[in-house]
Amino acid sequence: MKRRAAWAGLALLGASLGASFAGAWAPQPAPYAGPLFDAHLHYNVEAAAGPRPVADVVRRMQAAGVRAIVANSRPNDGTRVLAASPAVRAAGITVVPFVRLYRDRADYTGWFQDASIERMVEAELRAGTAAGPYRGLGEFHLYDSTNADGPVARRLMQLAQARRLAVLAHVDDVAIEKLFAHAPGARLIWAHSGIGGVPVDRVRALLAAHPTLMGELSYRPGLTQADGQLSPDWRALIEAFPDRFVIGSDTWVNARWESYEALMTDARRWLGGLEPALASRVAWANGAALFGVPDPR
Ligand SMILES: [Zn+2]
Repeated sequence: MKRRAAWAGLALLGASLGASFAGAWAPQPAPYAGPLFDAHLHYNVEAAAGPRPVADVVRRMQAAGVRAIVANSRPNDGTRVLAASPAVRAAGITVVPFVRLYRDRADYTGWFQDASIERMVEAELRAGTAAGPYRGLGEFHLYDSTNADGPVARRLMQLAQARRLAVLAHVDDVAIEKLFAHAPGARLIWAHSGIGGVPVDRVRALLAAHPTLMGELSYRPGLTQADGQLSPDWRALIEAFPDRFVIGSDTWVNARWESYEALMTDARRWLGGLEPALASRVAWANGAALFGVPDPR
């Protein structure tokens, strides 16, 4: 009796070990291997004037297979440097420049009540970059969505809509509605697609209500599960809106540059779990279509 129980226990142990081995060794889909469009890249002063000269960031982008970037920086000098860099051009990386609303850290929390930001944006738009005119505004932050109602946010959204500039906004779902109320046809890229973890169904409803809304997926809580693949909810959402999502690195601090290749490897892993045509849309084609970027050579 005892012996039988011991064997039964061993058999159970064996079964559970077998199951966990099977889980650990379940074949992962091959990672996505095509070009990447990094739709959320910063080249801030701490990187540019510190440990990340242009040659360094170009090397990182090249190693990661990134062939186009939405570039923005605090202040805007970093973007102009990337746009003018022969090394960037030689690496076959297309720069899509955005005007950042920030001259310094204080502007993160003050831009929406500061008319001098609008004058700075106008001056940048007039000047353009060596890679051509600016194509968007942002990234900007609204930590309190009520500030999306202010006159600076309203005028900048209307400016973006009138000039067909995209807007990269780090905001919550309430602010998404408020920003669209100012400019219903604006091309709005929702940085992180809800960094506070707004429910997937709410993201779905906003995408359905606003055809010009796109979602960028860095830092999005719940996007992937423990094995690095998409969670079922997010897979279903991306499949339902195949032309509305883009990826990004969000190199907002130097530590993100240090892990740049690893971040892109993570993205390639979950992209590889999608149908190949859908993976290449999210990885590359959706961003390329938004800005008319030709396919890489
Ligand atoms: Zn950012």
